[in-house]
Amino acid sequence: MTYDFDLFVIGAGSGGVRAARMAASYGAKVAIAEEYRIGGTCVIRGCVPKKFLVYASEFTHNFTEIAPSYGWSIGDISFDWKTLRNKVQDEVARLSAIYNRNLGNSGVEIFETRAEILDKNHIKLSDGRVLSAKYILIATGGAPYIPDEIIGSEHAISSNEVFLLDKLPKSIVINGGGFIAIEFAFVLKGLGVDVTLVYRGEEILRSFDDCIRAEVHENMKNRGIRVITKANINEISPIDDGFNVHLSNGEIIFAGKVLLALGRKPYVKGLGLENAGVEIENDAIKVDEYSKTNIDNIYAVGDVTNRINLTPVAIREGAAFAATIFNNKPTKMNYENVASAVFSQPPVGTVGLTEHDARAKFGQIDVYRTRFRPMRIALSNDQTRVMMKLVVRASDNIVVGVHIVGDDAPEMIQMAAIAVKAGLTKEQFDETCAVHPTMAEELVTLK
Ligand code: NDP
Repeated sequence: MTYDFDLFVIGAGSGGVRAARMAASYGAKVAIAEEYRIGGTCVIRGCVPKKFLVYASEFTHNFTEIAPSYGWSIGDISFDWKTLRNKVQDEVARLSAIYNRNLGNSGVEIFETRAEILDKNHIKLSDGRVLSAKYILIATGGAPYIPDEIIGSEHAISSNEVFLLDKLPKSIVINGGGFIAIEFAFVLKGLGVDVTLVYRGEEILRSFDDCIRAEVHENMKNRGIRVITKANINEISPIDDGFNVHLSNGEIIFAGKVLLALGRKPYVKGLGLENAGVEIENDAIKVDEYSKTNIDNIYAVGDVTNRINLTPVAIREGAAFAATIFNNKPTKMNYENVASAVFSQPPVGTVGLTEHDARAKFGQIDVYRTRFRPMRIALSNDQTRVMMKLVVRASDNIVVGVHIVGDDAPEMIQMAAIAVKAGLTKEQFDETCAVHPTMAEELVTLK
């Protein structure tokens, strides 16, 4: 049996692009289809443009609170959203073009169109062409989850739309207490928007260490973000220039925009999975540890499989798939001690087990924690604290969790993750000589 391609990848985001390029480098004839823009969520409407908005929004605090404490007098400051938006979009376009070029240079054929599975070896493009492939890789990512229960949810935006707004609203209600809600709350506040965050639970950032949750909540309040917990949005009703947002606690808040950040669901709509009999479990494509679906030649990587929904994980899953199938080297992704960051202000870095989970898993643990005012803001009135915590398994003194809230926490945690992944002990942390004066030195001097 001959096929048009050895591999057909659906979705040119982080996972799909990596898999396609690596498979091609192993000699496979590869095609990739993308219905929107090459680069996927991370490059087009996620990590990359978000980080630019984070950088942009941090200037406000630095201009108004920090710079004057170092003797700077800053005159009137003003900010132009359209300048930022357009420059970010230009950069996104530049990166997307690089992804496109790299795929081409790797010998991958690109179809900038929607693709649908016809059967286990056939794909139909939206222009009607039908192509055959020995293997199919689904890497279609996720899409914002908009619950039906919220009356008037069609009036809300998701993070996808924030990047493209014509103008920033004066006020916004953000629903959710996860990554996107927290990051955009700080971003929009920093850009001058009046922000109210509404979260259904007791405390934001569920599944993070309790100290991180409390610290970020405190920082939100200190930056002037209103945080309402134990409440949900029941209804969004349009009125002049904005919306009345009806909460489950009876409160009605007026806002210029409403942002729903209630998680993302695997994007499988209209993919034709049923035509090939690909199984779905809890809305996600069910895969084994080699990212294989229940159909022998169909694989899936990234957010569409809802394992750990982070760009570097999707990239590794894509690479592991390509090595397994096209380089004769069966490779599994290792999901242990995957570090992550929340780009709050200051940001969060975390790796390994929370104190709560470590206690539940090991019983006896030791916790080392410090909370201090960082040097950079010591001359100002800013009372923000750095929080660092090591969670150590008592039986062998191995550091099983590191949790940080503070400037550059994401950079620090990348390094700390090497030590945690390597299974180093608290003594080995302590034997490492400090770099002074830094915040990170606390990680090797904690008593
Ligand atoms: P998250 O899963 O992080 O958060 C979703 C939030 O919505 C939670 O607070 C959740 O509450 C709440 N929620 C879910 N369903 C409902 C509902 N029906 N009613 C009310 N509240 C609800 O998703 P995000 O949308 O913030 O982000 C999507 C994914 O994108 C993340 O999982 C993450 O992997 C990725 N991401 C990563 C970033 C990074 O690495 N820095 C940045 C942005 C996104 P509860 O906690 O109670 O379940």
